[in-house]
Amino acid sequence: MINGSDPFELASLIVAHDESNAFEAVVPPIVQTSLFTFPSYDEMVSAYRGEIVRPIYTRGLNPTVRAFEDMLAKLEGGEDAMGFASGMAAISSTVLSFVEPGDRIVAVKHVYPDAFRLFGTILKRMKIEVTYVDGRDEEEVARALPGAKLFYMESPTSWVMDAHDVGALAALAKRHGIVSMIDNSWASPVFQRPLTLGVDLVLHSASKYLGGHSDVVAGVVTGSKELIARIRAEAYPYLGGKLSPFDAWLLVRGLRTLPIRMKAHEASGLEIARRLQALDIVESVQHPALANRLPPGLTGTSGLFSFVFREGIDIRAFADTLDLFKLGVSWGGHESLIVPGQVVLQQKAQPNSAHAFGIHPRSVRLHVGLEGTEALWSDLEAAIAAASQD
Ligand SMILES: *Cc1c(COP(=O)(O)O)cnc(C)c1O
Repeated sequence: MINGSDPFELASLIVAHDESNAFEAVVPPIVQTSLFTFPSYDEMVSAYRGEIVRPIYTRGLNPTVRAFEDMLAKLEGGEDAMGFASGMAAISSTVLSFVEPGDRIVAVKHVYPDAFRLFGTILKRMKIEVTYVDGRDEEEVARALPGAKLFYMESPTSWVMDAHDVGALAALAKRHGIVSMIDNSWASPVFQRPLTLGVDLVLHSASKYLGGHSDVVAGVVTGSKELIARIRAEAYPYLGGKLSPFDAWLLVRGLRTLPIRMKAHEASGLEIARRLQALDIVESVQHPALANRLPPGLTGTSGLFSFVFREGIDIRAFADTLDLFKLGVSWGGHESLIVPGQVVLQQKAQPNSAHAFGIHPRSVRLHVGLEGTEALWSDLEAAIAAASQD
């Protein structure tokens, strides 16, 4: 009997029960729990033996995280997927699942800067070598691949927007029996589905377009059951870069509007890129749809691209005059953002890919958000006028 005299008597009444399917909720529940209990000794043994698959502990399996993983695997055409605490956790855990000391990785130039630094620090100390190639040059890639263990792609790349023929490069890797992986954050599965082009593993910084609201840092990798099982067996549990249930729930929310958001980023981004290209003060615009025909398999473009000003623009004044475009890293959310190349060249973190790959000091990277094309264009025009030195 609870008589109220001992507050701890109440504690045994505060029991959890599974209401995950309660109320026929249209949105999956956030199963915010670290562990899952067993109704019996026998069921616990079965779970430990791996005879039944059920959540034991959230670092291994959690229903909300699983809901996101299932959605993303379906979008990319993967058999399985695994969510991570960040894009970098997905990248490091995946790469480390396929290499050991003495191995060599072939990577395209201009990979995400922290991936470049992972290769140049931790992997270097592990005696894993990385050969950088121009992904647009298939002969160069073909020459570099023999003897490599892993082929690391990113296309389009997220500063100079090099867009590669992903299917052709994946076929080269396959010919040499090399596992291929690609960072598909820029295009999202809406505009590029690399598994269908023959790439083995696709990963994302889900912090960008998949989340889409600038309120979550997360990552994900998808591919065949067999390859994902390799990541799940060691790097995932032991490096422990686990996606949290709440972040997974935010991603499920974000994925629902992914196609419609990507269409809007594409339309606005392309229009602004074209208008910039028409200005005398702009030397060049790095946008995949302006460079050439899009490579096979890339069916559209996102809102992230860069351009180079000619001499005669004070880039600091340009940046400080902008109102809708905010100075900020990352991208993929509602808001428009800029990063000046000059700033990246001064970054303290080393090694600095901006130097290694020649980021132009008069370049500016734009993320064209969802505020509306005309409002964003007015913002850019006003800032260019204010920053003109002649
Ligand atoms: C942001 C980003 C990453 C890293 O993702 P985090 O979620 O920040 O760890 C990887 N690749 C690309 C292309 C990115 O833009």
